[in-house]
Amino acid sequence: MKSEQRPQHAFFVDVDRNLCYYCGACVAVCPPDSIFLENSHLKVDHQTCTRCERCIAMCPVHALSKAPLTPEVSHEVKL
Ligand code: SF4
Ligand code: SF4
Repeated sequence: MKSEQRPQHAFFVDVDRNLCYYCGACVAVCPPDSIFLENSHLKVDHQTCTRCERCIAMCPVHALSKAPLTPEVSHEVKL
């Protein structure tokens, strides 16, 4: 694979903190427990997230989205 090519699942789950009201619905559906509440913030463990997108589908206010990998997070994401 050429270095500029990325697999289709090369994204990370991003949280819009302006929309999230910490209902916990996404936390409850995550198989590997990769999304969780910590110090009143919703966090995603990019190392263990399998990008199944269940949390994104579950959020009632669409606070979660697929964001393109950036250099800041790409080292955290297991592809
Ligand atoms: S995409 Fe899947 S594995 Fe990743 S945080 Fe959401 S529910 Fe969990
Ligand atoms: S389901 Fe949406 S509103 Fe609820 S905690 Fe998750 S991101 Fe926040």
